[in-house]
Amino acid sequence: MEAIADPAGLTKFIRDVPDFPKKGIVFKDITPLLGDPRAFRTAIDRLAAPFEDKHIAQVAGVESRGFLLAGAVAMKLGAGLIPIRKKGKLPRRVLRAQYALEYGKDMVECHADAARRGSKILLIDDVLATGGTAAASVRLLELLGARVAGIAFLIELDFLNGRKKLKNHSVHSLIHY
Ligand code: AMP
Repeated sequence: MEAIADPAGLTKFIRDVPDFPKKGIVFKDITPLLGDPRAFRTAIDRLAAPFEDKHIAQVAGVESRGFLLAGAVAMKLGAGLIPIRKKGKLPRRVLRAQYALEYGKDMVECHADAARRGSKILLIDDVLATGGTAAASVRLLELLGARVAGIAFLIELDFLNGRKKLKNHSVHSLIHY
């Protein structure tokens, strides 16, 4: 199967859903991209490309849409997979990192033995918005003693400046709004 040539062509597989999950939010629905074999393959190839020679040991995906991308990128890079989960989902001892929401707080967790000390990890999520989720995920991976070798997103919402929270890291996004 041939990948579509124009990377910018991926935007036509992203659907804007106004006022979801609440008023004022324009939700970026990636299900058309996931459902199209060539667009999905192109996205995975392009998310993985900058990290192909970086000896990534594991790819960490953020629940839940990040899982859909991280698993495929891990296969492409010959790496393992670390699920970064929302609070209370993992059965064994966890490490956790908190982040602020508009109202209140949330938490990401992973198993305390999910990575070896010093191993190189690529963090993946579908959307970089304010950066709170990704910054907490980075802290979590660092608590494990791992090295975050890069962070990749399908979509970055530039106007929310989430990248600022990820300074000192190599951030790579396929589509910018
Ligand atoms: P943030 O912590 O603000 O960077 O939000 C990132 C997380 O929330 C990601 O896991 C996204 O899946 C989700 N998210 C935030 N904003 C949007 C949006 N406009 N469309 C789809 N998902 C979003």
